[in-house]
Amino acid sequence: SCGLYWRAYCSFATSGLPDVRERTLIAIKPDGVQRRLVGQIIQRFEQRGFKLVGLKMLQASQDVLSEHYCNLRTKPFYGSLLRYMTSGPLVVMVWEGHNVVQTSRTMVGNTNPAEAQAGTVRGDFSIHVSRNVVHASDSVEGAKKEIQLWFQTKDLLDWDSWDQTSNDD
Ligand code: ADP
Repeated sequence: SCGLYWRAYCSFATSGLPDVRERTLIAIKPDGVQRRLVGQIIQRFEQRGFKLVGLKMLQASQDVLSEHYCNLRTKPFYGSLLRYMTSGPLVVMVWEGHNVVQTSRTMVGNTNPAEAQAGTVRGDFSIHVSRNVVHASDSVEGAKKEIQLWFQTKDLLDWDSWDQTSNDD
């Protein structure tokens, strides 16, 4: 609608941030759910200032995972990766905000926990590359594909922050 476009234009014009609508896919892997880390991981993204626009808990299918990890299908660990990722429920989320793809990768930390800095999710919560707690999209293009793979458009909520809109309407 016109109203939506006008509001989007206004928030763009006043914030000066060109990519506040960037989105990324973050998934808490089965070990993260088992270890009751869901709340702490969500808290990190909220306190950083990102906006949660989609969230669900699910048991992943082989089909979705083989699409999600299609670039790894020739790796020796691919079979065990799929077994791990189907070993229990995942919490899959879409987070939105300025530079969210790159910043999330920094917050999640290096793929190999031995290389992950303290203060990152993997640096704080994991010791092994095959049990590394969380997934984060690695590029804006990759994020778009992953979001389409895991979510239907109708399940992503385009809500306004109260501090960016007037509250008297
Ligand atoms: P990232 O998750 O950091 O984007 P990759 O896309 O390279 O990393 O790998 C996807 C996932 O595959 C990793 O998060 C990890 O769960 C698993 N993985 C990667 N490398 C290995 C490895 N050498 N051995 C076992 N599992 C691995």
